[in-house]
Amino acid sequence: MDKTVGVLGGGQLGRMFAEAANRLNVTVKILDKEDAPAKKILNHPSHISGSFKNSASIRELSKGCDVLTIEIEHVDTTVLKELSSQGVAIEPYPETISIIQDKYLQKEHLKKYEVAVAQSMKIPTGSSKELEMVGEAFGYPFMLKSRREAYDGRGNFPVKSDKQISEAIEALKDRELYAEKWAKFRAELAVMVVQTKDSTLAYPAVETVHENSICKLVYAPARNVSSAILKKAQDLAKKAVASFKGKGVFGVEMFLLEDDTLLINEIAPRPHNSGHYTIEACPVSQYDAHLRAILDLPIPESSLQLREPAIMLNILGGSDPKAHLKIAEKALSVPRTSIHLYAKGDGSKGRKMGHVTVTAPTTREAEAIIQPLIDAVDVISG
Ligand code: ATP
Ligand code: MG
Ligand code: MG
Repeated sequence: MDKTVGVLGGGQLGRMFAEAANRLNVTVKILDKEDAPAKKILNHPSHISGSFKNSASIRELSKGCDVLTIEIEHVDTTVLKELSSQGVAIEPYPETISIIQDKYLQKEHLKKYEVAVAQSMKIPTGSSKELEMVGEAFGYPFMLKSRREAYDGRGNFPVKSDKQISEAIEALKDRELYAEKWAKFRAELAVMVVQTKDSTLAYPAVETVHENSICKLVYAPARNVSSAILKKAQDLAKKAVASFKGKGVFGVEMFLLEDDTLLINEIAPRPHNSGHYTIEACPVSQYDAHLRAILDLPIPESSLQLREPAIMLNILGGSDPKAHLKIAEKALSVPRTSIHLYAKGDGSKGRKMGHVTVTAPTTREAEAIIQPLIDAVDVISG
């Protein structure tokens, strides 16, 4: 296909997007550091070396691209809005990215569209007085969150009692903050939603398991959740995404509370960790779907369904910089297992270095197959 897509960011999401684009012979130009993971599988001289927060680099990237998109939301949206007003196609819309990149504004937006979200409160100056007021209103624990630049839980601090207020302020100093009421969830669910030029489609609702606020495992479909709730989760995710302008995939993270209420935790305006399983488990992956959506190519709805159950396990770095490679080597001998390494070089503790996906006729079989790899991951991250 004779198209060129420019991507702000070239991490693992950009790399897997590039794999999908390569199969359709779509050219992908990346704006990121010289040795970014995505650039390593895209051999042409027109990548841009620089930052996705730098306006001049973004302007440079936009030249000769049919459409610009993102693999990370922490980008300069002022220049994207300016380029958009000059006729550059950007998906999703810069306005959408700028709302979502501020988690507090994102929640205010969702409330305006009557989408159920975790209750939140503004913290204008970050004083201990303000946090005490949050404690009185929400009770303890509550979650203190950075409005911007948050990922993998870096930016969150669970405040367990008023004695932890000064520690929380110190941990997140110099960041714009807001607070969230603690969600007593029985499970976390996620749905990848695809917004095309004329429809909003959903992948199945999956279960995500986080450890230390980092996604560890994804079960597709979610375990021990009725099909009625799974359907409700898909509908809520679609309603939330439909309130944002622009095409592409969106990752919607949700809390399933003990009384079966669903609340949105957050939305990502791009492919997402909770959708990696789609590469092996669905005929059209989240990366294929993102590419097709932004280029106005067809996406049959049934291609978003599971071929068979899947479990995805993240491989995080350990204290040994090569620890993640040992997991990947072990996984080579595990049946029904696909391995993805992100080519980030040496690992460090908690950094996402790769993932594996097991698919099997039943979740139970997939669980048995993946258990030795979960054990191995626990050893390096323990
Ligand atoms: P991501 O890498 O998904 O972008 P993030 O840094 O934006 O992560 P969040 O999604 O806000 O972080 O939170 C990470 C995890 O922390 C959640 O998946 C959940 O397990 C826990 N968490 C977040 N907010 C709350 C809350 N209000 N109540 C209880 N747990 C929460
Ligand atoms: Mg996030
Ligand atoms: Mg999250």
